[in-house]
Amino acid sequence: MSDVCRFAPSTTGSAHLGTLAAALLCWLDARSRGARLILRLEDLDPDRCRPELARSIAEDLAWLGLDFDERVEQHTSRPRHEAAMDLLEARGALYPSSATREEVRAAGRRAPDGGWAYDNRERDRVLPPGGWRATAEPIRARLPGGVFRPVDEGGLDLSQEPALVMGDPVVRRRDGAFSYQLAVVVDDGVAGITRVVRGRDIAPSTATQAALQALLDLPSPVYRHHLLLLEERGGKLAKTHGSARAAGLLSAAPALCGALACCVGLLDRPEPCTPAELLRDFRWSRVATADRVVSFRDGALRVTPVP
Ligand code: GLU
Repeated sequence: MSDVCRFAPSTTGSAHLGTLAAALLCWLDARSRGARLILRLEDLDPDRCRPELARSIAEDLAWLGLDFDERVEQHTSRPRHEAAMDLLEARGALYPSSATREEVRAAGRRAPDGGWAYDNRERDRVLPPGGWRATAEPIRARLPGGVFRPVDEGGLDLSQEPALVMGDPVVRRRDGAFSYQLAVVVDDGVAGITRVVRGRDIAPSTATQAALQALLDLPSPVYRHHLLLLEERGGKLAKTHGSARAAGLLSAAPALCGALACCVGLLDRPEPCTPAELLRDFRWSRVATADRVVSFRDGALRVTPVP
């Protein structure tokens, strides 16, 4: 049976070099194995996601030469997210949680993703009569205990006891939106995703996702977490760099494709090329493993491995 893969950008900003490099790696991985590839536009955050950003990301990917077999906007999955909430409730796994960000931080436990771990202080609370729909409070899922060991094909150790290390995740937020952790697990499961290729910044969440998969009887895909492109000041390029469009990077697709290939280690120099040309001898062993600092000076690309 052939693989089903997805590229799942959040529609909270325009595509930047980090988004496009991640998309290229995901596309090369899927196309090199004859997999079905879905573009899932993750648009659940009502404050930060905008439909015009979803459109512009999809356009930029097509312009670069990356094609997808299906395009899904995540908000259309709401009935499936609600059904998953019903199942979690039926299994006694949901509880209301009013802990604020400040309270979680005050508990003083760092999580491996750089944020703060929730200390499960409200675990004994129960949903009101009427269930999760009858409260406006945020809702968390009580994760099963024990270590989860999702498989990372690149050899990254993803094993973790998520209930302790990260704490029970919010599944429905204060603003009523379903959380990334719930939606990603449900949507990967419903679409039959077998391979997830994504940036290493999300690796610490994988065990939480595996625990939610177990609660929802969903299979766990194989994961591959790739390098990140960083700014000179050290932050993830994705977070702080302007859009590729605004930076004038989207003037010639082969030039940009070559620059991206150079950023991830597939080319030594940013020579113009197409994704289809890169596909010919694509292998993960040719992709850099260490994160890389990327900068543009006087129109020239500089790529430096992080020691
Ligand atoms: N939407 C997430 C992002 O843009 C990626 C989620 C995932 O691949 O699981 O960072």
